[in-house]
Amino acid sequence: MSAVWQAFFLVVMHVRHRAYLCVMSYFKTARPYIIAGPCSAETREQVLATAEALAGIGVQLMRAGVWKPRTRPGSFEGNGEAALQWLSEAKALYKLPVTVEVAEPAHIELALKYGMDVLWIGARTTVNPFQVQHLADALKGVNIPVMVKNPVNPDVDLWLGAIERFEKVGITDVAAIHRGFSGYSGAAGYRNQPNWPIPIELKRRRPELPVICDPSHITGNRERIAEVAQKALDMHFDGLMIETHPDPAAAWSDAAQQVTPDALRTILAGLVVREEYTHNMSGQEQLEYLRQLMDSLDAEIIDLVAKRMELSEQIGVVKHQCNMTTYQPSRWREIVETRGDHGAAKGLPKEFVVELYEKIHHESIRIQLAVMEHAAKEIKK
Ligand code: PEP
Ligand code: MN
Repeated sequence: MSAVWQAFFLVVMHVRHRAYLCVMSYFKTARPYIIAGPCSAETREQVLATAEALAGIGVQLMRAGVWKPRTRPGSFEGNGEAALQWLSEAKALYKLPVTVEVAEPAHIELALKYGMDVLWIGARTTVNPFQVQHLADALKGVNIPVMVKNPVNPDVDLWLGAIERFEKVGITDVAAIHRGFSGYSGAAGYRNQPNWPIPIELKRRRPELPVICDPSHITGNRERIAEVAQKALDMHFDGLMIETHPDPAAAWSDAAQQVTPDALRTILAGLVVREEYTHNMSGQEQLEYLRQLMDSLDAEIIDLVAKRMELSEQIGVVKHQCNMTTYQPSRWREIVETRGDHGAAKGLPKEFVVELYEKIHHESIRIQLAVMEHAAKEIKK
C-alpha cells in the first residue's frame, strides 16, 4: 500500500471511530459493557454486599431478578417490591445503575417508581408478542433503556420483532441479550445452546444494535463462563451479563452458574478485547491480500455449485424419462459417505461436509422436482 493510501486509510478509520463515539448508545459507553449481579435479589444484605463489591470492580450496571419466572411452581419467585427498595438503596449508596426483569405492565410501574435505570425482558416473555406489546405500551412516553433477551426458541424474527415493538413506542436505547436457546438438555454441555448463527444473523440485520452475551444462562456452569465470554467478545459482542453472588453455592436460584465478585474480577481481567479494525498496516495489508484470495475462491465455489445444479437438472430430465424417483436413498448414502471421507482426508470435519451437502442435495432435489412438475404440465397440455 502506498503512503498516500495508508494516510487515507488512517483518516477513514479515525472518522469512523469518531462517528461511532458520537452516536454512542447507552450500552456502548464501555467496551465490553459489563452487567453483573445475582440471579435473584434475596435479602437486603445480599443486594448491598453485591453492589459494594461490583462498584469496586467497575461494572457498568447491576442486575438482580425481583420477579422470577420459574419453570415449576413452588420455587422461589422473587421478593418483588421489597427487593426494588434494596436495589434503589444500593444504587444511591454505590452510584451503580440498576436493572430488573419486567414481565407485566405492573412490574414496569413499580420498577419506574423505584428508579430502576434499565429494564430487561426475559426469554420466556420475548416468545409472546401479545405480552411484549403490553410491556411496550406501558412504556409509551417513557424513554428508558431496555434489554431484550432472545426467545427460548432459536427464532431471529421473533427476537427482532420484540426489539422493534419497543423501538416503535419510542425507546431509543434497546439492546439484545443472547442467553442461548432451549434444546436437548445437556447437549454439548450447555444449559441453553448458544446457536451462534442466530445472534450473528441479528447483528447482520441490525449492525448498530448492541448485543450482549449472557454466558451464565448459556453454560449453566460457572466453570465455563470465561470460555464463552471470550468467544462472545471474539464474535464482536458489545457486552456481557454475568450472574454474580456473594455466596453462589447458597443462591436461591441458579446456584451452579453464579460466580463470586472476586471470580468475576478474575474472569474480566483474563478477557482479551480485540478490535474489528487495526491500525497495524502490515497486518491490514496481509488481511487484504488473504481476503482477495478468498474472494476469488468463493467466486469459483459459486461457479462450481452453479455447474453442479445444471447437472442436477439434466439428471432430473433423465430420471423423468426413465420414470425414476428424484430422491434415491442409496445415492444419497453414497454421497454422504464419499464426500464425508473426502472432506476428512482434507482435514475438514465430516459433520461439516455432510451438512454442506445436505443443503446442496436439498437444492438438487428441488430442481429435479421442478423438472418433473414442468414435464407433467407439458404432458397435460
Ligand atoms: C435471568 O436472567 O435470571 C433469567 C431468568 O434469564 P432468562 O430470561 O434468560 O431465562
Ligand atoms: Mn438466573
